[in-house]
Amino acid sequence: MTSTNWAGNLNYAAASFHRPQSVDELSEVVAAAPLARALGSRHSFNHIADTTGAHISLERMPAELTIDQAARTVTVNAGARYGEFAERLDAAGFAVHNLASLPHISVAGAIATGTHGSGDSNPSLAAAVAGVEMVKADGTLVVMRRGEPDFDGVVVALGMLGILTRISLDIVPAFKVRQDVYENLAWSSLADNFDAITSSAYSVSLFTHWGDEGITQAWRKSRVDAAADLDDRFFGATRAKREMHPLPDVSAENTTQQLGVAGPWWDRLPHFRLGFTPSNGEELQSEYLMPRRHALAAVEAIRGIAARLRPHLFVSELRTMAADDLWLSPALHEDCAGIHFTWRQHIPEVSALLPLVDAALAPFDARPHWGKVFETDRDRLAELYPKLPVFRDLAARMDPDAVFRNDFVDRWIGR
Ligand SMILES: Cc1cc2nc3c(=O)[nH]c(=O)nc-3n(C[C@H](O)[C@H](O)[C@H](O)COP(=O)(O)OP(=O)(O)OC[C@H]3O[C@@H](n4cnc5c(N)ncnc54)[C@H](O)[C@@H]3O)c2cc1C
Repeated sequence: MTSTNWAGNLNYAAASFHRPQSVDELSEVVAAAPLARALGSRHSFNHIADTTGAHISLERMPAELTIDQAARTVTVNAGARYGEFAERLDAAGFAVHNLASLPHISVAGAIATGTHGSGDSNPSLAAAVAGVEMVKADGTLVVMRRGEPDFDGVVVALGMLGILTRISLDIVPAFKVRQDVYENLAWSSLADNFDAITSSAYSVSLFTHWGDEGITQAWRKSRVDAAADLDDRFFGATRAKREMHPLPDVSAENTTQQLGVAGPWWDRLPHFRLGFTPSNGEELQSEYLMPRRHALAAVEAIRGIAARLRPHLFVSELRTMAADDLWLSPALHEDCAGIHFTWRQHIPEVSALLPLVDAALAPFDARPHWGKVFETDRDRLAELYPKLPVFRDLAARMDPDAVFRNDFVDRWIGR
């Protein structure tokens, strides 16, 4: 029985653990459970996936990879991890538009929380969902497709509407990416050139420890078909001559290849390689997405409290992402910038800092990542999600007996 999340910072409270091997078996488990919750690859840092009832993992469901060339979609089993099917998709000549920093997460878990990668033109991974199949609380199977009235509510749904069994994702022609890391980008340079920096590649990630040195590493992931030759200088930063890890003293062996070597999308868009543990040991994560017009002011706000954060922080990462239309997506209707924190696993100290971070970012309409640790004002959160009442109605219709409820969603989504 699985009792902790991936980071080991919390124990799940589930009374039972199920690994059905077919949709029929899954339906039986769900229909018999007064309380249930799907578990993905357990990479969330808070109690979003928890339940006191039946925990259901899809890891034993049959693998699937069905490419519909005409519709430009791939259909996968919902519990599949991106890294498990990406290579086969590539071999068939296709790609998904983007990936998160690690390929180890399940598709269902990623889309349920609005997980994203980076890139001015790249919306969240959930935005690529063209259709879903799920088992509802009464054990019946429903299929929903993009364009149907409630569809924008069912994709980023925090596991509240049913257990997703199959997911269809938009695909694009496979592409190659090169990754180049630049060191020491000054704060002033970021402020003067923010748009030029974030649009300088298909996906850009900026790592910082919030010190006077500014951005310690800028990771540029450029499509090879679009990339011109890259200069050794990048807005005052210097191209690294060796492979880098975002943390200064950590070996780069678990990071995806850099130094401008072209490779397939699935082996460059994530920062970390599938075969390795993507972390410097125990950690916690928090992240806020805010309209990108507020990005620089938000960065300044965090710099203002950085001295208090730094003793508990491994590193922060700034990314950008395009708007989507998904009701509970942190990037709803606004092109966004994200400020991410990889904390040391100092649980009491980090817990005490979360309200400080939230208060610093609140003036910028910042929405917390659903799968990471945060503390916020529930009324403010409700204001930031204008579709919340409609989503609550949808949840009440699809799950009238509140089978998929837990304390986390009761607190932040309400009934
Ligand atoms: C090292 C690390 C790096 C990360 N990098 C990024 C990043 O680059 N970008 C980013 O945005 N986030 C990132 N995250 C956060 C991560 O993407 C999210 O927490 C994501 O939800 C994890 O997916 P999972 O499969 O582990 O889901 P879980 O944590 O297991 O579950 C998350 C939610 O999904 C629901 N769920 C899972 N399966 C199903 C299903 N079949 N049907 C319905 N609901 C389901 C669960 O009930 C729960 O509500 C990172 C996390 C870690 C640990």
